[in-house]
Amino acid sequence: MAKAQPSDFDWSKLGFGYHDLPYRYRAYYKDGKWSQGGLEEDSYLQVSEAAQAFHYGQEVFEGLKAYRRKDGGVNVFRPDMNAKRINTSADRLKMPHVPEEMFLDAVKQVVKANQDFVPPYGTGATLYLRPFYFGTTPMVGVHPADAYTFEIFATPVGAYYPGGLTPTSYVTSDYDRAAHGGTGAAKVAGNYGSSLLPGDIAHKGGYSDAVYLDPRLHENIEELGGANFFGITKDGRFQTPKSPSILPSITKFSLLELSKEFGLIPEQTTISIYDLDKFSEAGAMGTAAVISPVGSITHHGHKHVFYSETEVGPYTTKLYNRLTAIQFGDEKGPDGWVVDVPLK
Ligand SMILES: *Cc1c(COP(=O)(O)O)cnc(C)c1O
Repeated sequence: MAKAQPSDFDWSKLGFGYHDLPYRYRAYYKDGKWSQGGLEEDSYLQVSEAAQAFHYGQEVFEGLKAYRRKDGGVNVFRPDMNAKRINTSADRLKMPHVPEEMFLDAVKQVVKANQDFVPPYGTGATLYLRPFYFGTTPMVGVHPADAYTFEIFATPVGAYYPGGLTPTSYVTSDYDRAAHGGTGAAKVAGNYGSSLLPGDIAHKGGYSDAVYLDPRLHENIEELGGANFFGITKDGRFQTPKSPSILPSITKFSLLELSKEFGLIPEQTTISIYDLDKFSEAGAMGTAAVISPVGSITHHGHKHVFYSETEVGPYTTKLYNRLTAIQFGDEKGPDGWVVDVPLK
């Protein structure tokens, strides 16, 4: 695959796709320690056919973005939270930790080395970073690997809604993405493997994604595809589901904080699919989706419309504007949320 050039891109028309950029960071774990990591040019990895990850699923990943500021500099958003979460995910799969300093240094190295691919300010596009690592030890018996490859690659991605925020419709699934006591709270490839069939069913039905309900009762909202759910109640609460099988979204934790600035009361609580009337607005949240307004959720043939199927509610709009203004450096947010990436 030919390497991408900055001139290949029409930044305002970018989708969410992979492009082979010049540099990625890699480090290798062996004999109980990580190698001195560094930048590499080859986007292909040479791995044993019997590598643990291919057969028994030891793979964890992260997703974060680099944002071009108006002054030409570049921000990353709360990378310390990604550094911590990748290790929480690793614990669940019996994988060794990645040192936080190595993770944060790798993020900076990858952005700096590929800085010509951080899209211009004002296009809404960003440079998406994908940290991940996986077991490489060749094996056929089931046990944790003792060798791992860690990598961060980058790819430019477009604004999720190039024409501005637009509500979309969702449908509940009878499948689960994760079990109670399973790996739902870990950011692992396997959760996505199990979401492909329900996702496809939702898309074929004309919906933007599946709503997963709690795996025990199939009554409470868990996740919207690869994003967390929020609803704004008619009495001014910013509510998001509390459950051991949902992925702890950094965007969610950030919005729980920011909601207070608009006079909302943040709450993590159980949200029944049969109790949606209490919400005046609803949305999906995550690094890729940022905030995506949810127009409606259909459950067993019954469609519930939130604010509107075509218009975006006032709180959703305010939260979106505030979060993205912090990320792109237009407004100051809480201390430590944005980290400047040195480009020289
Ligand atoms: C990554 C992810 C999210 C969003 O998390 P952020 O930290 O906000 O990007 C939500 N749900 C799932 C299943 C995820 O994998």
